Amino acid sequence: MTEKKQFRVLLYYHYATIDDPKLFAQEHLRFCKELGLKGRILVGGEGLNGTVSGTAKQTQIYMDTLHQDPRFANMPFKIDEADGHVFKKMHVRPRKEIVAFNLDNDINPHKLTGKHLKPKDFLETMRDEDVLLIDARNDYETQIGHFRNAILPNIRNFRDLPEWIEKNLSDFKEKKVLTYCTGGIRCEKFSGYLLRAGFQDVSQLDGGIVEYGKDPEVKGKLYDGKCYVFDQRISVPVNRTDEDVIVGHCHHCGKSCDRIVNCANPECNKQIICCEECEITHHRSCSEACYHHPRNRYVQESTQNHSSEATV
Ligand SMILES: [Zn+2]
Ligand SMILES: [Zn+2]
Repeated sequence: MTEKKQFRVLLYYHYATIDDPKLFAQEHLRFCKELGLKGRILVGGEGLNGTVSGTAKQTQIYMDTLHQDPRFANMPFKIDEADGHVFKKMHVRPRKEIVAFNLDNDINPHKLTGKHLKPKDFLETMRDEDVLLIDARNDYETQIGHFRNAILPNIRNFRDLPEWIEKNLSDFKEKKVLTYCTGGIRCEKFSGYLLRAGFQDVSQLDGGIVEYGKDPEVKGKLYDGKCYVFDQRISVPVNRTDEDVIVGHCHHCGKSCDRIVNCANPECNKQIICCEECEITHHRSCSEACYHHPRNRYVQESTQNHSSEATV
């Protein structure tokens, strides 16, 4: 009898000084590979940002080891259960920033950041009508889910957010502001940026949507749709009340849908929302050009399936 493996996905970040990110990244990669983890970790002079998958035992050793390092002794881990790995490989990369905000004058969240609100306090403040609730994520993330009544900046990259705020919200600096993102890391800098830009009262969702969805009391209340994640799962559920709804529309037919697929053109690979019927009729492609691409993966998969059927 084979032992049933319990897998976990860890999501974590911590702003702490790392003197030699390149060396740290090399050693950390070796450590992760030896453990058998898969995932993606960024190492910067300002800290660590990662998401990895592994068995319960592997991930436990990983968390314990990092907690023994004084720099990461208080680093919180968000833990999800999974059926298997949610990454194909293990990458640890040195980076200038652990979240790319590209400001001329960077924000150090240890010096300047918004108030941290636990899910319950965030929910209560959100219910106040006179609050600016700002989603700090990108357009392809918010299109399948977000907090109800949130302001959704249509940005493709986090680094475009400051400019969007200046253009659209600079007249509202007296208002109370709430920000949120997937796991909290972007808001550490974004809320600091808002304070520096002159916003008076800025708070951020501690632990992001991921922790909010796990909180036994709030149960993901007032979050509509799913939460986009940067691994093979693509999205995870948040709202565990009966107000669960679908946010998003099929790229081709427009019907209500939150199924994300990668365009079958291997050179495009763009993530689109696509219903099951349109996946067939459009060969899982985002455009006419991708549909006709000579190496369209959908076409290749279909031919393979047919030929294997024929030989059985
Ligand atoms: Zn469709
Ligand atoms: Zn495409």
